[in-house]
Amino acid sequence: MEASIIKADGNSSFLLSGFKLSLINALRRAIINSVETLAIEDITIFKNTSSMYDEVLASRLGLVPIKTIPELSKSKKEISFKLKETGPKAVHASDLIPSDKDLVPVYPDMLLVNLREGESLELEAKAVFGSGKDHVKFSPAHVSYHFYPIIDIKKGGVKGAATIASLCPVNILEGSGETLSVKKGMTQECILCKACEDYAGAENIKISSDSDKVVFELDNWGQLGNEEIFKQAFDNLSDELNDLEKKI
Ligand code: SF4
Repeated sequence: MEASIIKADGNSSFLLSGFKLSLINALRRAIINSVETLAIEDITIFKNTSSMYDEVLASRLGLVPIKTIPELSKSKKEISFKLKETGPKAVHASDLIPSDKDLVPVYPDMLLVNLREGESLELEAKAVFGSGKDHVKFSPAHVSYHFYPIIDIKKGGVKGAATIASLCPVNILEGSGETLSVKKGMTQECILCKACEDYAGAENIKISSDSDKVVFELDNWGQLGNEEIFKQAFDNLSDELNDLEKKI
């Protein structure tokens, strides 16, 4: 079994070779469901004269990703945010004042509500640790995987190469005249939609996949770094497997 990094920025992808699909899916589920992050859970609204209902506002606040320091989950320290604003003003996530200056919203420009002249908002929100099992707002990332694509293109003589390239939804093909090719290092980005093959015909371009190789994609929401996400997911998965072994 081999694993390597294809891309390691916020949205990362990894190439896994020789792994069982059941293991890859177990890792995906462990990341989505078991990794702990912070999210707003309890909200006390003292005043809300905006056009947004309390319930909608509460739902929006719950979905604000918050930078998470995992060590804090063991402390009993309360983590809260205060918000007091008067319109006219566009209220953003950055207007939430945290009780701990390190636990800030990941995306400060996230719009919460627009206050018009004379409208005001005052609330206090409590953040807690949880996992995707409790609510999706705690999930640290969107995780998916697909087989490694094989793109087999006829050498020359592909009519309408530029048009075929323009059909690719992930823009990995380039074409001019009757020559069509995959942009350098972009094969793994293919989503196997077969739009190119349907248009050009299988005699010109054939799309298939290598079932022994998987592209594992992790779109991190930003509460935790990738390293911490994988560490927690592997620890939790291993605990669950140990528990299962004891029971059978
Ligand atoms: S199968 Fe879809 S994503 Fe892949 S190269 Fe063809 S058009 Fe692009």
